[in-house]
Amino acid sequence: SPFVLQVENLKTQFDTSAGVVRAVDGISFSLKRGEVMGLVGESGSGKSITGYSIMRAIDKPGRITEGHIKFCGRDNKIVDLVSLPERQMRDLRGNRVAMILQDPMMSLNPSLRIGTQLTETYLAHKKVSKQEARERAINVMQRVGIPDAERRLSAYPHEFSGGMRQRIAIAIALINEPDVIIADEPTTALDVTTQAQILFEVQKLSREFGTAWIWITHDLTVVAALAQNVAVMYAGKIVEYGSVASILDRPLHPYTKGLIASIPGHNSTLANKRLYQIPGNAPSLLSLPRGCPFRPRCAYADSTCLETPADTKLSENRFYRCWHPVETGAAL
Ligand code: SF4
Ligand code: MG
Repeated sequence: SPFVLQVENLKTQFDTSAGVVRAVDGISFSLKRGEVMGLVGESGSGKSITGYSIMRAIDKPGRITEGHIKFCGRDNKIVDLVSLPERQMRDLRGNRVAMILQDPMMSLNPSLRIGTQLTETYLAHKKVSKQEARERAINVMQRVGIPDAERRLSAYPHEFSGGMRQRIAIAIALINEPDVIIADEPTTALDVTTQAQILFEVQKLSREFGTAWIWITHDLTVVAALAQNVAVMYAGKIVEYGSVASILDRPLHPYTKGLIASIPGHNSTLANKRLYQIPGNAPSLLSLPRGCPFRPRCAYADSTCLETPADTKLSENRFYRCWHPVETGAAL
């Protein structure tokens, strides 16, 4: 199969007392084995909800209302995670598809030794002895750069630094060698050195295990260092998608252009060297503007933009959703 994950017109909404929140509003993308895809956008754009939807971990009042999440693991069988019975989903979750959260304490159990947490994740899905699971735990801890792994199996999460806790959460996500890992801003809270080490490990692991990653972040520099493709989300939709090189060289959506211009040290087209900031705030999903949701913040907006823009597909691997794509070299 050419893909490990193929998301088609996925919609996830929350029925709240204040109204319907369309957190993920018809997104589509495809992920290949071993690929790292960056999913970028401001907070509230639907990145995390996309991740939770793929994990089928959306709680009430949220629900997936439409679309498909086709998953093709190592056994080459295609299943749709949207309609898969929960029993089968439980076999996949944490096994073939795993998620790493921004705060490792959200995924670690504070009252269990980390060795137990690692081996239990492995034993839940593999028919192996406890000794084999223990060896596997040590191996995967070493791979993510946890020193003195064997001795530290008996330690509790609070005995580790924040950076080491995140490595443990990554080790737990990796222990079953999943086909897909969704990483939700896992390095945001870490210092630059630890962050660089973890990003290096991720690239190594995707090469060695063939793991595909969806790397959720608001930080395009991380994506530039890590990913092959990038999807830019705004107000529940993917507004631009393409290879990292093509997006960074030639952003077509004004929002993407703004994100790139706000990267520290980026050689922007602005005359002054001050850091660019996209004007205004992300819209409330409860009261979206008519037409293009980026319209109130967009320097290119005109009356055409009162109609919702459709996707324009430039190639198999490149699309944008805007009536007036930015011309190369244009100022913001
Ligand atoms: Fe701006 Fe119009 Fe494009 Fe929306 S459709 S991003 S408002 S130019
Ligand atoms: Mg988030």
